[in-house]
Amino acid sequence: MPAGRRKRVNFIKGCLVTLFLVMIITPIIISAVSLSYVRKLNDSVDELNDRISKLELTYMLKSEADEGLSQLNQEKAQKDLEEKELLSEPEETIVQEIDEVITGKKVYLTFDDGPSPNTEKILDILDEYDVKATFFVTGYQAEKHPEWYKEIADRGHTIGMHSYSHVYSDIYSSTDAFFADIDKLHDFIQENTGVDSHYLRFPGGSSNRVSRVPMSDLCSMVMDRGWIYYDWNISSQDATSPSPGKDRIKANVLAGIGEHESSIILMHDATEKNATVQALPEIIEGIQAMDDTVILPIDDKTEEIRHLSPVFEENEINDTED
Ligand code: ZN
Repeated sequence: MPAGRRKRVNFIKGCLVTLFLVMIITPIIISAVSLSYVRKLNDSVDELNDRISKLELTYMLKSEADEGLSQLNQEKAQKDLEEKELLSEPEETIVQEIDEVITGKKVYLTFDDGPSPNTEKILDILDEYDVKATFFVTGYQAEKHPEWYKEIADRGHTIGMHSYSHVYSDIYSSTDAFFADIDKLHDFIQENTGVDSHYLRFPGGSSNRVSRVPMSDLCSMVMDRGWIYYDWNISSQDATSPSPGKDRIKANVLAGIGEHESSIILMHDATEKNATVQALPEIIEGIQAMDDTVILPIDDKTEEIRHLSPVFEENEINDTED
């Protein structure tokens, strides 16, 4: 073979070998590089997956914690509610229990014409025997001692209205005069005790013969206001003159109680009624010694003992004793 041809053949061979090598080696290199890159990507993906898993776990734990917290809060709220219900329940239970217990004869001690220095003594005696009573108060006698009214209310007794001035000729001269007097008293009581009293005892009782206004008119007007008036069915007669004395007062009270399912006892706590104060401990002891008898303050459930009944038929029980 001529030297020039051989040279060309060798050149072509060299080219073919080079081409072959390039065609074979380049894909191998590319594959190797790609593989390495893919591995790196896989690693990154794995790392990301790990992170996602961790985040999911954290989120799940947080959700559970929140849920748990929310449940705890719900349980706490429920517990609080139950505690509140428990707190309010005893009141209802006590009321129910009292309703159930009060099946015997009921006795209501009532004091008219105060307050006075005697009222404080009476309050101490009532406390000593753990007894609640009812005070139908006036205004004129103690207008400079508003604390006496507050003391009655604060010590758990019922405050009822009697009359501000207690001057029969004024208060029974007209319906306007009557209600001017009683409204003055009502507001005076409310100002000084916070009690919006709706219990009334007419001076002289609803059957008094002094009023120039028909008592049936005053009774119906009082009831139209949603007030309740109470008379009495037992009188201690401590307002008669001369004073009957401690023993007579006690006997008057105790003798009448057996006759009534509800006894409303008329007594007085005015300045001069010392015999009433002296008789009171023995009166309470006498009542407490009776079977199935309970002493209570007047409330809305108290039987309405009235001389002039709501149908306004006069039962002439009483004169102007009160
Ligand atoms: Zn009176």
